[in-house]
Amino acid sequence: MMQRASDAAELRAIVRNLRADRAGRVAFVPTMGALHDGHLALVKTAREHADVVVVSIFVNPLQFGAGEDFSRYPRQIERDAALLESVGADLLFLPGVDSLFPHGQAAQSRVEVPGLSDILCGASRPGHFVGVTTIVAKLFNLVQPDVAVFGEKDFQQLAIIRRMVADLNFPLEIIGHPTTREADGLAMSSRNAYLSDDERQRAPALYVMLQNIAERIRSGQRDFELLQSEASLALQSAGFVPDYVAIRRAEDLAEPSSVENALVVLVAARLGQTRLIDNIRV
Ligand code: AMP
Repeated sequence: MMQRASDAAELRAIVRNLRADRAGRVAFVPTMGALHDGHLALVKTAREHADVVVVSIFVNPLQFGAGEDFSRYPRQIERDAALLESVGADLLFLPGVDSLFPHGQAAQSRVEVPGLSDILCGASRPGHFVGVTTIVAKLFNLVQPDVAVFGEKDFQQLAIIRRMVADLNFPLEIIGHPTTREADGLAMSSRNAYLSDDERQRAPALYVMLQNIAERIRSGQRDFELLQSEASLALQSAGFVPDYVAIRRAEDLAEPSSVENALVVLVAARLGQTRLIDNIRV
């Protein structure tokens, strides 16, 4: 039977009991809910790595900018809870905004990973990653997991969280999980629900483009500027408004030299009102 906690005190009490009962490792999967198979894959992986699995659902206002989709972000707690129960989560943490930010959002202490947070998605969403690292640091301190699982779908986020954990010596292990996709290649995302039928038909072009670039890099093309600008044009023809297409070093998202061989291609693009992101390792 999955338990629920709605504030910090309740969470700590239940985690303490579960940890004592099972004398084992605690794994943690933070989410914003509206769960899909990608989230559930993270929970299953968490289950394999630990005796106690804690999942949080919190639509974090700190990571949304003015004019973004905070108020219309899909919320479907009972459906999510049933899914989490079916994959063996032990505890669902559902904090309210006021319980996590008792002094208000503006006065909340912040955790920032400089540099990595300012490029790519950070450049177009100022403050976004500070919102992410702040909430993730709080959640780590509340749950005190031995391991936490994050999706590679949010590749930059994963890199930033790894850096935060290393820089601030959080005593836990971060596991990155490959992206779960729909049958046509579209990366699963809670935001895919925003797409109209027509946009949903077009959306897989994002991953087709990434596979195409990856293939050209593998077959020896090293003019990254050219690949990026061609991909941007291809996305525009497919009806997207590209934010960036970037070929980066996988390790630290720095701009790669032409001999670098652990690369990632990252894309962010708008399709109608919906901002989609994806990436592929090369
Ligand atoms: P979110 O609820 O969108 O904040 O995501 C919660 C966690 O699920 C993050 O670690 C995401 O990277 C991960 N995630 C989201 N979509 C996918 C996906 N399609 N495949 C794997 N992980 C995902």
